Amino acid sequence: MVPLVSAALATLTAVTACGAPAGSGDGGKGSGTGPDGIGQPIVMASFYPLQWLAQEIAGPDVKIGSLTPKGAEPHDSELELSQVSALGEADLLVTLGGFQAAVDQAITANPPKETLDVAPLVGLENEDPHFWLDPVKLAALATPIAQALGKADPDGASGYDNRAATVASNLAALDEELATGLAEFKGAALITTHAAFNYFAQRYELDAVSISGVDPEAEPSPARISNAARQIEGLAVKTIYFEDQASPKTAEVLAGKLGLTTSVLSPIENDNSGDYLEAMRTNLEALRTGLVAP
Ligand SMILES: [Zn+2]
Repeated sequence: MVPLVSAALATLTAVTACGAPAGSGDGGKGSGTGPDGIGQPIVMASFYPLQWLAQEIAGPDVKIGSLTPKGAEPHDSELELSQVSALGEADLLVTLGGFQAAVDQAITANPPKETLDVAPLVGLENEDPHFWLDPVKLAALATPIAQALGKADPDGASGYDNRAATVASNLAALDEELATGLAEFKGAALITTHAAFNYFAQRYELDAVSISGVDPEAEPSPARISNAARQIEGLAVKTIYFEDQASPKTAEVLAGKLGLTTSVLSPIENDNSGDYLEAMRTNLEALRTGLVAP
């Protein structure tokens, strides 16, 4: 145990941008021998949107732990020692392989009994991990997560299946609300600092333009800001959106330069984002207020 954990710690300092789930490890199925048959399964998720979804499906009797420290944003998170140790005890981990290097390393160092890597299931494009902002893509994981939970805890399988159907229909209702609420904005430019909204923009036919790239904390260079300003000047926009977990400085500088306002849009990346469905509805209101219909 001790050497394992030390090895894990030694390799957990890598800081990465929000990169591609390029190599997704072995794609998932671990070689665990199933549940202990005692009590509830121990289930973990690598970061908030997966934790939220798994928790909805697992129900109140199974507490889903997160590998990303509370309040941290997942892009460059490092793990705490206790989380790496806990991982080896888990019956199931739900993760997005390739997104968080520290998580991928922890899985290698201290593997859970089973791993469900959702990366191959969600159709990622162009090194962009933010699939969860498209509720249709997120809903597609309900059944695979229910099946993985049912494998870890066969006694709970029918409950997992029922709750997966419920959350999938809640996500379908959300998708309809978004489609209806954004219908008049089809083709509108959506300017964000963090490049988190590409899947969302594809789903609702918005034109996403981002200033900083995929890492929310990277400060864009003056050249990049000037480029963004030139790009935005030609568009019908009144708002630059920045994310709730990052500094508004870039958005404010650019908005000041162009005579625009700023507003918050949550990429729903950590547990401060609140309930996923509510956060998405808050985003919808912010978009209806701040977008300019073409
Ligand atoms: Zn992000």
